[in-house]
Amino acid sequence: MSSAANAAPKSRTAAWLDRLTPRRVRESLQAILETADGDSRRPALRRGTESSVPGLHVIGDLAGAPVIKLAMAQGVEVIDYLSSLPEMREPASAGRDAELLDVLVVGAGASGLNAALAAKERGWRCVVLEKERIANTIDQFPEGKWVYAEPDTVPAKGKLWLDGAQKEEMVRRWQQIVRDNALDVRTEQPLTRLAKERGVFVATTPKGTLKAKKIVLATGQRGNPRKLGVAGEGLGHVYHRLYSPRKYQGESLLVVGGGNSAIEAALTLAGKNQVVLSYRGGEFARVFKDNQKKLDAAIAAKRIDVVFNSEVQEFRAGEATLTVDRGGHREERVVATDHAFVLVGAELPVAFLKGLGIRLENEWEGKPRRALALAVAALFGCLWLGQAFDAPARFEFFGLSWLAATLGLGDGSGVAFGFIPWWGGLALLLGAVGGLVRTGVKGDRWSWLSLSFLVWYAIYGIKYGKGDEFWPFKGWGYAALSFPFFDLVGGKWQLVERPWSFWYTVLYTVLMTVFGLRAIKRWGLDRKDRFQVWRYTSLLAFQWILFFLIPEFLFQWAVQYEAVGKELASDPQFAEQGWRTYGLVYAWPLFFFTFFYSPHQIWVVWGVLLTCVVIPLLVLFQGKRYCSWICGCGGLAETFGDRWRHLAPKGKSSIKWEVMGLWLLIAAFVVTLLMLARDGFRLGSLVLGGGDYDFWNDKAEFGLRLYRVVADVWLIGILPVTLYPFLGGKVWCRYWCPLAKLMQYVSKFWTRIGWSRFRIVSNDKCIACGECSRNCQVGIPVMQYALKQDVLDNETSSCIGCGICVTVCPMDTLSFSRDEHGKAKLLPVLPSR
Ligand SMILES: Cc1cc2nc3c(=O)[nH]c(=O)nc-3n(C[C@H](O)[C@H](O)[C@H](O)COP(=O)(O)OP(=O)(O)OC[C@H]3O[C@@H](n4cnc5c(N)ncnc54)[C@H](O)[C@@H]3O)c2cc1C
Ligand code: SF4
Ligand code: SF4
Repeated sequence: MSSAANAAPKSRTAAWLDRLTPRRVRESLQAILETADGDSRRPALRRGTESSVPGLHVIGDLAGAPVIKLAMAQGVEVIDYLSSLPEMREPASAGRDAELLDVLVVGAGASGLNAALAAKERGWRCVVLEKERIANTIDQFPEGKWVYAEPDTVPAKGKLWLDGAQKEEMVRRWQQIVRDNALDVRTEQPLTRLAKERGVFVATTPKGTLKAKKIVLATGQRGNPRKLGVAGEGLGHVYHRLYSPRKYQGESLLVVGGGNSAIEAALTLAGKNQVVLSYRGGEFARVFKDNQKKLDAAIAAKRIDVVFNSEVQEFRAGEATLTVDRGGHREERVVATDHAFVLVGAELPVAFLKGLGIRLENEWEGKPRRALALAVAALFGCLWLGQAFDAPARFEFFGLSWLAATLGLGDGSGVAFGFIPWWGGLALLLGAVGGLVRTGVKGDRWSWLSLSFLVWYAIYGIKYGKGDEFWPFKGWGYAALSFPFFDLVGGKWQLVERPWSFWYTVLYTVLMTVFGLRAIKRWGLDRKDRFQVWRYTSLLAFQWILFFLIPEFLFQWAVQYEAVGKELASDPQFAEQGWRTYGLVYAWPLFFFTFFYSPHQIWVVWGVLLTCVVIPLLVLFQGKRYCSWICGCGGLAETFGDRWRHLAPKGKSSIKWEVMGLWLLIAAFVVTLLMLARDGFRLGSLVLGGGDYDFWNDKAEFGLRLYRVVADVWLIGILPVTLYPFLGGKVWCRYWCPLAKLMQYVSKFWTRIGWSRFRIVSNDKCIACGECSRNCQVGIPVMQYALKQDVLDNETSSCIGCGICVTVCPMDTLSFSRDEHGKAKLLPVLPSR
């Protein structure tokens, strides 16, 4: 018996410790961060869809154009962009090198052919390399498949023909266009290698090399079938596509997969063959409603034998072995297999792209320890700088004060930096930040994470409070960032000292406005989508009026000029608490301060009404649209965080983590109870006398302070905004916001009893492009709902009704506006979708 077999099983603690080794920590962190874009991963692109390899531009499916029309448009746009570059002004034909191309297009699909046609129109030398044949992807659609020319609202760009047609017709027309325009398309010549020599690309194919000034990569991602990676998969009778189903008659066929292509293949083949359909899941989750119906009928008629929870172990001549999981017990099954079709989807050709030197989105490359060291150095630079403000900027950490005293550098109470000029701190800060930027530009993502953390830690750490700021800003940060600003005092505009919290609100509002206007352009104006124009306008209006102008100016003016009535204006309990106006829109528990610290009764009454009546009614009609139309926290995520929305964590485990919102809701509830108990006892002791007040006061203040630091600073402020560029904008709203969780439960309740008016429905046009899921900031697998035409509501998802999935869908599959009878409009007061 081996010693390993003799070894006692590891205790849970030991297993935990094992897991906590730095490699494991890093790997698990990486796993969370990389679920961000999951299956919809793409090359990281800059302006003009240029990849991380200068001069190599990516278009079409690979660059996020989900349908033919949009892929075609990118083909034209990339050539327009290239023609604006100085190095492309003089065509290659004017130079001495007779072999040099202006552009080498890789991939003869919709985007590549259109780009080549546009290049040809400009008189450029252009060659198209094609791995198989012209319009390969479309050619491989099932026989007679109807190809849609969506979206209807967008006109087709370029010389390639596009209209709704059968795939055969489309391929025939495209081949004709290639001939008519004498395009140099080299079929069966895949690009295998790319190098750059003296500023010119050298592309290698099995038949030779080509030189080009620019490369346009249009290889799509559907043409790269996912493999199982099992023994025998390379045998001649195992295919990853179904070309001509009519060829197979009276044979034993194995189809592997659980998506629409696998099911459609099984259904097509089942008529004249024995078909086994093997799927690793326990049910089909991403299947068109129509396919599901046909499949159910085929199973009932015993035309298809579906083996759920099964995985292929090995393919051999004439048979295949499956492992079937029957509730934890695994057994083997051998199935007769004259031919096998492995149809488990396509995947990004990562190895191919990496081989070309292209960096992908969200790659966690770099050195986390170096990034951490530079961040710490930057913080020490700040600490050192603090002395310029005559503040207690002292080394109070890690016993260094003791060490410094031993070295004779201080008195042991901490090292003031008097012995080194303040600009030494500035140099350290700038050096560390410069180091982070330099390594970040070179592709170290950990550096960007550190930099992002530094910025938001400083902003929120300083905002925490005068004298209460986070290290190393303690005692000086708040003062250093407080400046005067104009205000109307006694009828005159005067410069008035404004604290950092005011400037923080200014910064917040400016960020939201700048990026909100960009988002209006991106989602509203460019796509002619009124819904998104209204939504972003609403977010900006709420931010400007209710979260900036009222608390910072209008409330004080209303008090000054007695617009609130003489009585209220002279009541200090009301007049001196302008900050409570945040409670006009922020309901409990997002802003539970409405109920604490001797509020005027107006605020208490409104707070109860808002939380118990207004919010539930809003949720009844609009679901959780509060998060995407009203709230300032969601507002920053939807505007400043918009460009990173596709990075929201996806997948089942990311959804499970949403339970954290419940913990915060419970914490907010407990703190509220403590505070109310404290206030109750104060009232009691005032009236009756007694000692319980101190006890409750200590508990309540401790709870509140803890909640403030954990929730109001770290979870609302520092962490989510730091993570915007890495996990999208909705980390707080999705994972931690107690109000969002409360609304989720209310909405679920309304949905269960059938009263909710909020839902997203789908028609049958989904082409599984994944754009809806990719762009959902709260990580909902929208495509799965669309494929099955299931209703998406708040019983099954945490949808916040932003409508971006509806807006991005190129096939107009999704909509808010129909009820289950397909008639009633959901939102009479809002523009319909
Ligand atoms: C099942 C299904 C149904 C669809 N239905 C529709 C629809 O009805 N309407 C619609 O508008 N869109 C539809 N689409 C989407 C549409 O097919 C794509 O949006 C479109 O084909 C993308 O064009 P492209 O030029 O980016 O890539 P592709 O059309 O995929 O072209 C890429 C080309 O590059 C070639 N290639 C790959 N690697 C290399 C290499 N190394 N060297 C050289 N060449 C290479 C490939 O062989 C291929 O010819 C559907 C997609 C699928 C999968
Ligand atoms: S499912 Fe659609 S509407 Fe709902 S949050 Fe996601 S993108 Fe927004
Ligand atoms: S519903 Fe989603 S996956 Fe389907 S076509 Fe629309 S965006 Fe693409």
